[in-house]
Amino acid sequence: MNLIFMGPPGAGKGTQARQIADKYGIPQLSTGDMLRAAVKAGTEVGRKAKAAMESGGLVTDDIVVGIIADRISDADCKKGFILDGFPRTVAQARALDSMLMERKLKIDHVIDITCDTEALVARITGRSTCAGCGEGYHKEHKKPKKAGVCDKCGGTLTTRADDNEETVRNRLSVYDQQTAPVIDHYRHKGAFKTVDGMQEMDTVFKNLCAIIG
Ligand code: ADP
Ligand code: ADP
Ligand code: ZN
Repeated sequence: MNLIFMGPPGAGKGTQARQIADKYGIPQLSTGDMLRAAVKAGTEVGRKAKAAMESGGLVTDDIVVGIIADRISDADCKKGFILDGFPRTVAQARALDSMLMERKLKIDHVIDITCDTEALVARITGRSTCAGCGEGYHKEHKKPKKAGVCDKCGGTLTTRADDNEETVRNRLSVYDQQTAPVIDHYRHKGAFKTVDGMQEMDTVFKNLCAIIG
């Protein structure tokens, strides 16, 4: 099962992708997570990506396409994968098309999770993530039992440097200009679905499971 989760920053792609990955036993491939790991490790990719990520702009297509091409070749992707946050430009979508064609693979569902702009800002500025296991939290919508501590693994909750209001507004406008056109790329191809991301997290999850089967 090969899936693409689309939607603006804060729509709930990561939250849902983690749960779908657990349920279906396929990995969540988040280019954002992979890039943050590269920045932290100080690799060449990380050094090239850092400035764009801090300002809320996009990292260049060749970098993210290279990361995904390597990653989908890994053994754990044989049963399938969830692309979370990729492709984010039409050029990335085209590069993915040829990458899949070469490997004789296809995408089963492209699912766009929609969300109102003001809700996106509130979601992102209230977001925290476990440094240990990657679980996501929110200061109002998904509070940990103990402040600053992950319910699942006891790890420390961290907030992303780019999750501030100014950078968020920039990320949303980058989304409108560069990522929204990717929806049309897939709408024409079929297998494109929309899920209302304004619903409760559990309802969104049920809607996704109904599509995936
Ligand atoms: P994305 O990966 O699309 O950027 P996340 O999954 O990280 O988004 O979600 C952003 C924030 O919003 C997180 O703090 C998460 O807990 C919260 N969130 C996710 N889905 C919902 C929802 N359906 N309702 C309310 N808050 C949500
Ligand atoms: P969110 O879903 O909250 O926007 P991500 O974790 O997906 O955040 O991405 C964080 C940052 O990483 C983006 O603002 C961008 O700079 C970079 N990034 C992630 N995925 C891509 C991609 N496919 N193309 C270009 N840049 C990307
Ligand atoms: Zn944790």
